[in-house]
Amino acid sequence: MSIDSPKEKSEAIKLAKQLERKGISDKLVLEAIASVPRHEFVDSDLREYAYLDRPLPIERNQTISQPYTVAYQSELLKLKPGEKVLEIGTGSGYQAAILCEIGAEVYSIERYEELHNSSKKKLNLLGYYPNLFYGDGFEGLPEYAPFDKILITAAPEKIPEKLLQQLKIGGWMVVPVGDRRVQKMTIIRRTGEDTFEESLHGDFIFVPMEKGTEK
Ligand code: SAH
Repeated sequence: MSIDSPKEKSEAIKLAKQLERKGISDKLVLEAIASVPRHEFVDSDLREYAYLDRPLPIERNQTISQPYTVAYQSELLKLKPGEKVLEIGTGSGYQAAILCEIGAEVYSIERYEELHNSSKKKLNLLGYYPNLFYGDGFEGLPEYAPFDKILITAAPEKIPEKLLQQLKIGGWMVVPVGDRRVQKMTIIRRTGEDTFEESLHGDFIFVPMEKGTEK
């Protein structure tokens, strides 16, 4: 995918350079940031802010994550093209587009039907075809497991157990864990059938991960 409008293309390149200065170094992630038209994932009246490094509101009181956060989580995933990744919280679809751009086989779940439908339409129009599901991310997708990587883009208070069981041995999950005020970016590696290792990577603020589905 490439951004056809020169103005937005140069803004996306500028954003990627800014994230590199903030410490993102994974080339595949930076190239993806420079290639995905973020302005297509926000409301038309917010387009002028689309390439600023800040979160923006989307429908149903949710947010499109800050570009730095998207890049940081993507970098922690250390994705290789062809890896199978499960995202929880499709939201606007922007992060899913970044994962597609990196060349991953993408599965993504959203609990709001409205967001599921609108992100699917948008992604397909732009030529991205991740596997999108309307459902409760706490359940994961057992029928498509195991996954090389799992990325959670909403904040659970505790690590979702069922999702750990859907990781490949040797794979890992990136998840912001905490209460509504602040969360710790956490990596959980599955080292064996029943063994996991955890590491912490800084404070972030996400919308909460909530149970069940809504229209
Ligand atoms: N990755 C998104 C970030 C959206 S914010 C983007 O790039 O825009 C987090 C999203 O997670 C919201 O859309 C919210 O509705 C969704 N979410 C919260 N709890 C969920 C759950 N249990 N299952 C699936 N999605 C969930």
